[in-house]
Amino acid sequence: MAGKRVALVTGSTSGIGLGIARRLANDGYCVAVHSRTSAEAGHALAAELGDAVYVQADLAEDEDRRRLVHETVAATGRLDVLVNNAGISGTIPHADLQAATPEIWRDLYEVNAIAPFRLVAEAEPHLRAAARAGSPAAVVNVASHAAVRPKGASIPYAASKAALVHTTKLLAVTLAPDIRVNAVAPGLVDTPLTETWEDTRALWRERSPMRRAATPEDIAQCVTALIDSTYISGEVMMADGGLNLT
Ligand code: NAP
Repeated sequence: MAGKRVALVTGSTSGIGLGIARRLANDGYCVAVHSRTSAEAGHALAAELGDAVYVQADLAEDEDRRRLVHETVAATGRLDVLVNNAGISGTIPHADLQAATPEIWRDLYEVNAIAPFRLVAEAEPHLRAAARAGSPAAVVNVASHAAVRPKGASIPYAASKAALVHTTKLLAVTLAPDIRVNAVAPGLVDTPLTETWEDTRALWRERSPMRRAATPEDIAQCVTALIDSTYISGEVMMADGGLNLT
């Protein structure tokens, strides 16, 4: 296949996704930037990155999921890497069971668990084509330490990310050897999503061996390590500064 490798990074106008998009562009990828509503920021980032495109899509909608992959490939001609980063959260104390309504469960599952699977399903033929043309294909899902440990902003959030972790392993088995599928499980990351989480930030400062929250660049480095590997598949890379050890 001629030309640059292409990476689609969902939710790349903000926070972790923005860090991943910048890092992959720096590593020589043509990046497909994506978001739900922040189209202006998306277009500005694509212009800043140079060899990049922006596609808007609401990942709660299946038609938009399909269109996102279709428009990315139509604009770039290929797809080598898919980073399922976009996600939603919201704080609900775990003990307040009534507050975790069925509607909240459904909303979180649509975006955090179903959308990543559906994007892989749509991307599969393109990723396989890249692999068969000699460009190793990879999917990286951005999960959460809350998917692995009984923690997190809410029980529905943690469960939606746990579903994503198990889906990662199932897809790694199903899509090998053409497509490797891995996940990163960040702890606290400094992004707009967590701007007001002062107690959590104090927890990371005081209890985590690394004594701080992660930056989006820290997580981007984990994502590129999994993309660049030639062998790792079905792994969940914990990126919580070691908090799970304490
Ligand atoms: P963020 O700053 O809130 O950015 C979220 C991005 O996802 C934005 O680009 C947003 O687009 C997009 N997005 C949200 N809902 C969408 C939807 N329905 N359709 C399409 N795009 C949508 O979040 P972040 O903190 O960087 O988090 C990124 C990922 O890491 C998420 O999956 C999150 O669960 C996970 N994570 C974060 C942390 C943390 O501490 N920050 C820890 C563990 C895991 P718009 O701005 O246009 O809405």
